Amino acid sequence: MTAAAVEPALEVLRRVFGYDAFRGDQARVVEHVIAGGDALVLMPTGAGKSLCYQVPSLVRPGVGVVVSPLIALMQDQVDALTALGVRAGFLNSTQDPDQRRAVERDFLAGELDLLYLAPERLRVPSTLSLLDRGQIALFAIDEAHCVAQWGHDFRPDYLMLSELHQRWPDVPRIALTATATDATHAEIAERLDLGGALHVVASFDRPNIQYRIAPKDEPRAQLLQLLRDEHPGEAGIVYCLSRRSVEQTATWLSTQGVNALPYHAGLDASVRATNQARFLREDGLVMVATIAFGMGIDKPDVRFVAHLDLPKSVEGYYQETGRAGRDGLPSTAWLAYGLADVVQQRKMINESDGDLAHRRRLAQHLDAMLALCETVSCRRVQLLAYFGQASEPCGNCDTCLVPPETWDGTVAAQKVLSTVYRLDRERGQRFGAGQVVDVLLGKRTAKVEQHAHHELSVFGVGSELSEGEWRGVVRQLLAQGLLAVEGAYQVFVLTEASRPVLAGEQPVLLRKDPVKQARTRSRGGRGAAAAVDLPAGAAPVFERLRTWRAATAKEQGVPAYVVFHDATLREIATVLPGSLPELGTISGIGEGKLAKYGDGVLATLAQA
Ligand code: ADP
Ligand code: ZN
Repeated sequence: MTAAAVEPALEVLRRVFGYDAFRGDQARVVEHVIAGGDALVLMPTGAGKSLCYQVPSLVRPGVGVVVSPLIALMQDQVDALTALGVRAGFLNSTQDPDQRRAVERDFLAGELDLLYLAPERLRVPSTLSLLDRGQIALFAIDEAHCVAQWGHDFRPDYLMLSELHQRWPDVPRIALTATATDATHAEIAERLDLGGALHVVASFDRPNIQYRIAPKDEPRAQLLQLLRDEHPGEAGIVYCLSRRSVEQTATWLSTQGVNALPYHAGLDASVRATNQARFLREDGLVMVATIAFGMGIDKPDVRFVAHLDLPKSVEGYYQETGRAGRDGLPSTAWLAYGLADVVQQRKMINESDGDLAHRRRLAQHLDAMLALCETVSCRRVQLLAYFGQASEPCGNCDTCLVPPETWDGTVAAQKVLSTVYRLDRERGQRFGAGQVVDVLLGKRTAKVEQHAHHELSVFGVGSELSEGEWRGVVRQLLAQGLLAVEGAYQVFVLTEASRPVLAGEQPVLLRKDPVKQARTRSRGGRGAAAAVDLPAGAAPVFERLRTWRAATAKEQGVPAYVVFHDATLREIATVLPGSLPELGTISGIGEGKLAKYGDGVLATLAQA
């Protein structure tokens, strides 16, 4: 950074935010924007995108205008800035005219540092004329992937953002997103006219997240084990595909003593708002949700993200799992996946509306997701490769920790395929996985006898594997495209690719499903995770600080992390500062928080 830009930016970083240094690409972006340049920033969740526009907003004269689709979170964002001593406000549809007028007055009087704006506000002429009358430091376009029509979060109002540049050609713009594929990147640059901007694409690795994909056995029991053994009393998100399974899972978890809440688009808006607010404010809640939940949730201490159903794409999966561990502390991304998931997703694609090209795109997304599930090499290497980034085996995913064995599944595959072939020839009757496995195992069920399948030459030829193992073989053949699902009744048919396998011309390598899931950390009671690695003696102090934080947050009606992050409390518990100036040297404590909370922290430390 040049001296001219670095000094005031660093001064703001230290004084206001209480941090010593910029991270990664932040310095480059901050310098560029302070100097009046445009930027397009692609960084994963938790990398620190907010500072990229907040610091320049405080350094440049005028107000930083932040366009964000996350109306429900604006109040929290403003609260978090207020706790830092930054003057912030927002304008959106949840306010009454009086509230809006007050914010507008502050804006015009130059009494705001940051103004959050819902994109639809820009359609209102009075908003544009308001902006004309004030001084704008910069425009920040948050969640910029919402401008990409082919992305998964397209918002029509975002298309109007291209006009900002025409109306205010001298105001720098910075667009930010955690979505990473080349296609989305290119579309954002084009639609927002950021071709000439500084493009910063950070590494998308999230090293503190442990990625694990387990064969689905008894999903509820597996989930409960994860929650109880590894994340007791900790906050997390459980994703389910359907609204019904969200409701059922949340209810069931509650009966098991887990503090769980449901969230899906079918719930009343007020219920959704309440559940979201509780998840953000209270410690250790589990949110069971469809993918309608999560964008922009910047709760730093989400310790796990669990998927009970197979995500439709790697991009979606990475976004969802990325909500874990924004604070950089160890977190888990866990997915349970089984044969029924593959069958169901293939079927949904077959039945989906849209042209052939659309269905093909869906199938490509699913294939990439399945390849990730079935890989025998590092999950992270494969994830990052999907985003065009090369990496080395990570040592922090299930395949690195417990490398899966492979086996020559050629004969097993041939047995499955020829059974499918024989069942397929039955006139008018078609069969799914259950019948295939029953025939292979030689089970004389009613359905087998009814169709005289015990007379087939393949009946009972598969006694060498168990039922679960055969289902694993069938699942992998489906994932590899050696077997297909057809029509509305989940029936199996052969594909072009089946032929060389049946003819013995092509070997099939299969993954041996692990008997036990990989687990690296086993923990004690509540709060143990956050206290992990603390020096002896610091853990009880940390717990006392957490209790103080919970009470303070409740009193002020803000989420606990708005007061202090876990990382800050850990450092306080370790360093044990004895005075306000000493406390001010802790990372995450700037002038504002020192003034607001310093005495409370010192008093808590003094109670021995
Ligand atoms: P993103 O928006 O990219 O997901 P955030 O802006 O929420 O990430 O930042 C993630 C966390 O990292 C926040 O707790 C933030 O305070 C912290 N952080 C960001 N930049 C720095 C820095 N330079 N030094 C220390 N902590 C930082
Ligand atoms: Zn790995």
